[in-house]
Amino acid sequence: MDFCENGHKLSFCPQQKDNTNLDHYKCYHYRRAGDTCSGSHYLRKEILEELVFGDLQQLISSIQFNEEELLTKLKSRFDIRESKKQDSLRKHLNKAKKRSLELDTIIQRLYEKQLLSEISDERFRKLVDSYESEQAELNQQIQKFQEVLISQTESAKNIDKFMRTIRQHTKLENLTTQLVNELIDKIVIHQPTGRDKNRQVTIELHYQFIGEL
Ligand SMILES: [Zn+2]
Repeated sequence: MDFCENGHKLSFCPQQKDNTNLDHYKCYHYRRAGDTCSGSHYLRKEILEELVFGDLQQLISSIQFNEEELLTKLKSRFDIRESKKQDSLRKHLNKAKKRSLELDTIIQRLYEKQLLSEISDERFRKLVDSYESEQAELNQQIQKFQEVLISQTESAKNIDKFMRTIRQHTKLENLTTQLVNELIDKIVIHQPTGRDKNRQVTIELHYQFIGEL
């Protein structure tokens, strides 16, 4: 689940030198012409684990001290409206659906009238055009409302799942594969900048269900 910033899966390379463990990850898409990466994204396993562990620890302690704040942040990021706004969205949706059905009936009646020559062709055309364009607009609105409602329900469920998972870990003592799999969807490692002491590497932690924080 480790990737470089260009989306290549990093390879795990076990390495032992004298008494030092140099297990590391790297990307192989930098050696040939046309390769997209400018370097190997070399990162030692130990360093990566430290970084991930630090981030998780911070996250877990911030939840213990201020869970509300994290929830608010997540909700606003996923644009989850408060339930009052959701209710009003649903009302608008139902109203639009009802009107669209009404228009079906109205338009059908107009066709009947026209068949029975109870209405002039010109008047018929005008009315049908206006009702049909009203209906097209309504159907667009209906689709949009439905999409918003669905995505909000999905996001709310995902936030809920994430919070439930993370609450189970009140104290983080070490990084286990199970923990990492439960909480982290993927890790993106950027090409490091600087050398030796000044070497800096940016990693992105993408959590399960909610993505990056
Ligand atoms: Zn790469």
